[in-house]
Amino acid sequence: MAKILDGKAVSAAVKERVAAEVAALGTEGVSVGLAVILVGDDSASRVYVNNKKKACEACGIRSFEYALPAETTQEELVALIEKLNADPAVNGILCQLPVPRHIDDKAVIAAIAPEKDVDAFHVANVGHIMVGDYTFLPCTPAGVMELLHSADISPEGKRCVVIGRSNIVGKPMAMLLLHENGTVTVCHSRTKDLAAICREADILVAAVGRAKFVTADMVKAGAAVIDVGMNRDENGNLCGDVDYDAVEPVAGYITPVPGGVGPMTIAMLMQNTLTAAKQQNGR
Ligand code: NAP
Repeated sequence: MAKILDGKAVSAAVKERVAAEVAALGTEGVSVGLAVILVGDDSASRVYVNNKKKACEACGIRSFEYALPAETTQEELVALIEKLNADPAVNGILCQLPVPRHIDDKAVIAAIAPEKDVDAFHVANVGHIMVGDYTFLPCTPAGVMELLHSADISPEGKRCVVIGRSNIVGKPMAMLLLHENGTVTVCHSRTKDLAAICREADILVAAVGRAKFVTADMVKAGAAVIDVGMNRDENGNLCGDVDYDAVEPVAGYITPVPGGVGPMTIAMLMQNTLTAAKQQNGR
């Protein structure tokens, strides 16, 4: 029986910590603000944005929401970001991805001032992460590390396997495990003998985007299995990249979906926004 890495509980503790610091800053006259931009009416994005708004409320962070129509041009979006870059009440800026096809997401990310880039997607922040000298960590990989720390699981000296090499999850995830002295292998759709590589992992992170992709035969007994995936199963229910029922008896630790990495991502966003506010106010 695997121990559950409870993202709801750990994220609640992170948000409590953030809320206490935000309140303390408030007594010094410093407020903390996050601007969230949503372009178009993608229903999943709307849910994510609402959850971020609720988390801001819980932490005492002011949220500024910009819901723009799908026809918004790239120039209009960049102009809004530039306005927010210059607004001292806004400490963090996040543009919910994906944006509509006619907008280049790279241009949008590049427009955000690096010191307000609380998603840590700007190439300047990606570079800082690469050299291990960073202010912000991308929220999902940072949330995974926080979950591992919460259970005293150290990557040091361990075999770590990350399935997925996206810029948002897989690549930075590998880098954070490496920074903590894991021996890291990154797998992707062209990887040969994926199951055999996964079976070597003491820490296995799945960021594939395919329901129940990781099966019991891919998991070493006692491994920590971290499921980043957010998919819908054949009945439309939320499920991860890991076949939870089959893997749970084999693993030593496992994250549920929902209630695992998802809430951690939002908690780390709150933490990054607080960090941004402290930096911008010389704290
Ligand atoms: P992505 O950009 O689509 O990347 C998926 C990765 O999986 C790619 O690197 C791809 O390889 C690899 N892959 C696909 N099929 C594979 C296969 N058969 N064997 C091995 N590797 C395979 O996805 P993402 O943005 O990283 O997101 C991954 C999942 O995490 C999604 O379900 C997403 O919804 C979820 N997610 C959750 C959170 C959260 O807060 N919990 C945050 C972000 C994302 P190639 O590079 O070779 O194509």
